[in-house]
Amino acid sequence: MSFKSLGLSEPLLKAISKKGYETPSPIQAKAIPPVLEGKDVLASAQTGTGKTAGFTLPMLHLLSKGPEQRYRPIRALILTPTRELAAQVHANVKEYSEFLNIRSAVIFGGVNQKPQVNKLSQGIDVLVATPGRLIDLENQGLLSLNRVEIFVLDEADRMLDMGFLRDIERIMKLIPNKRQNLMFSATFSKDIKKLAYSILNHPVQVEATPENTAVEVIEQKVYRVAKGKKTGLIIKLISEGNWKQVLVFTRTKHGANKLCKKMISAGITAAAIHGNKSQGARTKALAGFKNGSVRVLVATDIAARGLDIPLLPHVINFELPNISEDYVHRIGRTGRAGAEGQALSLVSADETTYLQGIEKLIGESIEVEIVEGFEPDPDASTEPIKPGQNRSQGRGRNSNSRNSSKKSSGNSKNSNRSRSRNRNTNSR
Ligand code: AMP
Repeated sequence: MSFKSLGLSEPLLKAISKKGYETPSPIQAKAIPPVLEGKDVLASAQTGTGKTAGFTLPMLHLLSKGPEQRYRPIRALILTPTRELAAQVHANVKEYSEFLNIRSAVIFGGVNQKPQVNKLSQGIDVLVATPGRLIDLENQGLLSLNRVEIFVLDEADRMLDMGFLRDIERIMKLIPNKRQNLMFSATFSKDIKKLAYSILNHPVQVEATPENTAVEVIEQKVYRVAKGKKTGLIIKLISEGNWKQVLVFTRTKHGANKLCKKMISAGITAAAIHGNKSQGARTKALAGFKNGSVRVLVATDIAARGLDIPLLPHVINFELPNISEDYVHRIGRTGRAGAEGQALSLVSADETTYLQGIEKLIGESIEVEIVEGFEPDPDASTEPIKPGQNRSQGRGRNSNSRNSSKKSSGNSKNSNRSRSRNRNTNSR
C-alpha cells in the first residue's frame, strides 16, 4: 500500500515524502479513500496512530480540486479540544499544503485575538480552532462559517469530557447543513455515539485495530504502594531504570508542581505542564522534553491532551485517573512508531476502586508488583478520596494487603494478560 495508490494528488505526495512517511498507517489507509469519495467518516483512533494526516491529506486533496476562489471563504473547519492540539494540527495542515494553493489559520483562546483576526481577514481556506475562541470571534462578526464544506471534529471524546457539547451544538448551527463530516474519537461512550448520530450522515466507520497496527504493544504494570511512598518509588524507578524520557500523570495541578519539585531535588530534570501554566511555559517545557534536556514531564490529563511527542518509552501514572477512559488516553502515549512501551501505575489503597474501573473498561487485569521498601500500607482505607472531602477512617482494608510477597500470585511477569494492546475494547 502506498500513498499514491490511495489517489492523493502529486503536491500532497511531495509533501508526504518531504515528511519522510513511506507507507500510510492503518488508519490512513482506511480513512483516506472514503474521505476522498466525499463520504462522512467516523474513525476510532487516538493520538499516535497518524489520524491527523488521515483526515488532513484527503481534506486538502478535495479542497484543492475545487474551483479557484476569488475571495477565500472558510471551506474546512477542524475543531479540537485544546490549544496544543489545535497548534499541532495546524502545523500539519501547513506542512501538507506546502505545495498547494491553500491558506490556513489557527485560532484558540488564552492569547491576544488580534493576530488571529488579521490572519482571518486575509482570507483562508482551512481553519483549525478550539470551540471557545471560534464562537467568540463569530459573535464579534469577525468570521463566517456559512461556506464550510468539510467539518472535522477531532478527539470528540475529549471535547465532551471538557464540557464542549453545548459549544459544538452552537457551532453546528453556524455551518451549512450540506457538508462532509469527519469525526475522530479514541473511545466510544453512549454520549459519543449520540453526538456522532446527530452530526454524521451515513458515516463509513473505520478503526485502527491492533492487528493491523505496528504501533501499539504496551506493557502495563501496577505497583501497589503506600501513598506516602509514591514519590520515593517513582524516583527509584526512573533513576535505577536510567529512563531518559518519561511522561508522568498526576490528577491535580498542585500535585504536578509538587512532584516536579521533588524530582528536581532528587537530581532528575523535570518540568510540569498544566492548565495554570502560561502558553510560553508549556511550549518551553515541551521543547525541553522533546530535545532531551528535560527527562520527566509531569502533566495533568487535560494539559497532556494533544501533545505531539513521538516515541515515548515510559508513561507513569503517579495517580490513577478517576475517569477510566483517561487511563486509555494516557497509556496511548507510549508504544508509538512500532516501539514497545511501558505504562506503569503507582496505586495506593484509596485508588483501588479506580483500578477496578479501569480493569473493567480494558477487559483485563493488570500485572501487580510490589517493590521491597515501598510496600502498600495494610491499614490504609480503600475508600476513594473525593475532592474537598476528608478521608473517612478505617473503612475497608487495602484489598492488596494479602500480597505481602514481592510479587502477587497469579500474575507472572510475562503473562499474556499483562501485555495489552492499546485498545479500548470495552468502550465501544
Ligand atoms: P497523530 O496520530 O496524527 O498525532 O500522528 C502521530 C505521529 O505519527 C506524528 O508525529 C506524525 O508525524 C507521524 N505520522 C503520521 N503518519 C505517518 C506515516 N504514514 N508514517 C510515519 N509517521 C507518520
